Amino acid sequence: FTDAEVYQRSFDPREYLKEFYRMSDSQGRPNTFLMQNLRSLYKMFSLEGLGGDTLIDVGCGPTIYQLLSACERFQEIIALDYTDQNRRELEKWLKNEAGAFDWRPVVEYVCELEGDREKWAEKEEKLRKKVRQVLKCDVTKANPTDPVSLPPADCILSTLCLEAACKDLAAFLSALRNIGALVKPGGHLVMVTVLRETYYAFNKQVFSCLRLERNMVEEAVESAGFAVKFSEVQPYLPGDVRTDCEAILSLVARR
Ligand code: SAH
Repeated sequence: FTDAEVYQRSFDPREYLKEFYRMSDSQGRPNTFLMQNLRSLYKMFSLEGLGGDTLIDVGCGPTIYQLLSACERFQEIIALDYTDQNRRELEKWLKNEAGAFDWRPVVEYVCELEGDREKWAEKEEKLRKKVRQVLKCDVTKANPTDPVSLPPADCILSTLCLEAACKDLAAFLSALRNIGALVKPGGHLVMVTVLRETYYAFNKQVFSCLRLERNMVEEAVESAGFAVKFSEVQPYLPGDVRTDCEAILSLVARR
């Protein structure tokens, strides 16, 4: 099990982004994993009732793709992650610093889903304005942002984090309860989770993943005090040497 300290020591945000967040790989093959997740996020953030003032993204990593549709529905965003280097990489993009990852092709793709590919620059600006804080968090703690206490948000979002951060189902459930407390009663939880994955690898490093089934995630979400409103599984085609992931679950629940 690769715990948070291993992430802090050895997770390289640049390599992660290059490996998983380009629209196509070095052989020109399209990144279906990313496009599928972008479409799911677009769909979930188009659901009726999903919107409000504040959204908290838990385990944001160095990425922004998960916020592109979300930022159309919320006024303020707070991003949380355990590792310093991931928060730093995210800040680089937010501050438009030289050397930041180029998200433009991804932003264009989402703008196209939303109806106008040409609006990518506008969306980038909107997102940069809406992300107000980038803070350290640990989902294994009762208050993940301790010593900071955040006011409960209208929505929490978490993509590909809890299955990486939790060593077993008990830890997964407890992490869901911890992050669940960050959202108001009546607020939403939006999750993208890989199913039946035990590892993912990049840059010659392997990270462990809690092997989850759809019903395990849904039941954990329910027992953390949420009612599942939307849940959809998409297959992940075998043959990827970087991971043994079999499917991806997109889920919306209401506290
Ligand atoms: N959300 C991003 C990153 C997923 S990678 C994406 O969709 O690509 C998994 C992330 O979980 C990493 O950024 C890692 O730093 C974070 N993480 C691992 N253990 C954690 C913990 N205990 N608390 C909070 N974040 C953790």
